[in-house]
Amino acid sequence: MSEIARICWWLSEAMSHPEFAGEPAPTLQRDTTADVAIVGGGYTGLWTAWHLKQQDPGIDVVVLEQSECGFGASGRNGGFISGYTDQAGHLADVYGLEGARAIIAAGDAAVAGIAQWCDVQGVDAWLCLDGSMAVASSPAQLGLIDEQLAAAAMAGISDRFTPLGRDQVRARCDSVAFHGGYVHDDGGTVHPGRLVRALRQACLDAGARIYENTAVTPPNPDGRAEIHTPSGVVRAGSVVLGANAWMASWPIFKRRLVVRGTYIAITAPAPELLEQIHWTNGMGVCDVRSSLRYLRTTPDGRIALGVGGQRGSFGGRVDSRFDQDDVGTRNAVSAIRKFFPTFADVPIEASWGGPVYLPSTHEPFIGSLPGGRVHYAVGYTGHGVAPTYLMGEILAARVLGQDTAHTSLPFVDYSPRPWPIQPFRGVGASLVNAAVVKRDDALDEGEPVGALTKFTTGLPARLGYYIG
Ligand SMILES: Cc1cc2nc3c(=O)[nH]c(=O)nc-3n(C[C@H](O)[C@H](O)[C@H](O)COP(=O)(O)OP(=O)(O)OC[C@H]3O[C@@H](n4cnc5c(N)ncnc54)[C@H](O)[C@@H]3O)c2cc1C
Repeated sequence: MSEIARICWWLSEAMSHPEFAGEPAPTLQRDTTADVAIVGGGYTGLWTAWHLKQQDPGIDVVVLEQSECGFGASGRNGGFISGYTDQAGHLADVYGLEGARAIIAAGDAAVAGIAQWCDVQGVDAWLCLDGSMAVASSPAQLGLIDEQLAAAAMAGISDRFTPLGRDQVRARCDSVAFHGGYVHDDGGTVHPGRLVRALRQACLDAGARIYENTAVTPPNPDGRAEIHTPSGVVRAGSVVLGANAWMASWPIFKRRLVVRGTYIAITAPAPELLEQIHWTNGMGVCDVRSSLRYLRTTPDGRIALGVGGQRGSFGGRVDSRFDQDDVGTRNAVSAIRKFFPTFADVPIEASWGGPVYLPSTHEPFIGSLPGGRVHYAVGYTGHGVAPTYLMGEILAARVLGQDTAHTSLPFVDYSPRPWPIQPFRGVGASLVNAAVVKRDDALDEGEPVGALTKFTTGLPARLGYYIG
């Protein structure tokens, strides 16, 4: 088992159960052919394989994974599963109001699809679809809460949001740091490791061939449906690229995405302390900083808290700093202690991180290479658990040449504006990122934000880039 499965609590918990660990898959040893070759054994690749097998059980699907399925972001994430209701304003800015409404409806369908899948497959992935809560973790964030509620009203979905004052928030999750917020009915939480490992098994049971510990070399941008690995070539009718942040260094995607790290810490079980703070309903909580904090509980009474917008990558390389990072861990642990002082003595049992992949729209996009035989979906940022189900469905339809209700969604064949060329991209992204964290921290502490910090955080928007 790889290092990440040892340090990531979700993966080690899932792999301790035979039904989620499964049997190891072989490494590709020789040349082969397939109807469809899929690169990446995360949610994107596996949902694509699953949807393909549902549409055409006889189709020959090969999945190639450099490590073990689920050991990318899909097995390590925060487990917030939601559609797009809380992004109405941003989606309307990027795609117009009708586009935003179509994406919100598709996001709802994705959450429902995953819930139904777990139900039919009998998968215990700790799915809890009671919605989630957004909070202002400083008075300065209250304006952002109001903006999100106004955007929901504009999209005609305000009935799905319940605004909450400070005391109402604290009745659900009692933190001195929470000043107000809202609950919405979109999705909830899931055990990400169990979900992805169960999906892997379902794909195998449906007849997909999975090769693990099989790293492919970056595909040729000319759109040839051929995948090369050190130990064999896969010649396919179609190829689907679902290697997420690892594709940032591939020539095809170099200018379209930047990589950021996000880091999670999880406590030991303390159910009695959760009861003291009234946080017993399993509802996930996010604040609304740009470098956001997302926190949830587990059925055995732990708090898992993640911090976004941390470490950047030069040249798009994803290395071990994205698996674990002292600064990221420290920030996650200090947020737990700050939000919940009664957890000060509860040990931190694990901490880990993972890469997320940001396009300039801050929304994923789907496309095909010249020739129309190589397809991809990328750029989920920190919001991919439910969207990957939708993207897998669209990718499968694209491979099969089908038009569905979702194949004309606005992010299909949408080409986000390229990020600046290097070294401006790497240096600029690091400077902006540091400034965003500094501004967020200053606002949290009620301190003034310096002129240079204000200027730097506002720069991407002035240049037409969304950074969340
Ligand atoms: C710490 C963290 C917290 C997050 N929290 C949330 C959350 O709470 N809610 C939410 O909605 N989203 C969250 N996300 C985002 C979400 O996890 C991702 O958007 C989603 O998992 C992407 O799935 P994927 O299959 O595209 O990518 P991945 O799961 O990363 O899968 C890509 C796979 O490709 C493989 N691969 C890479 N290169 C190669 C190669 N050369 N050859 C073969 N295989 C290769 C990788 O090993 C990996 O397994 C979070 C992400 C992280 C990192």
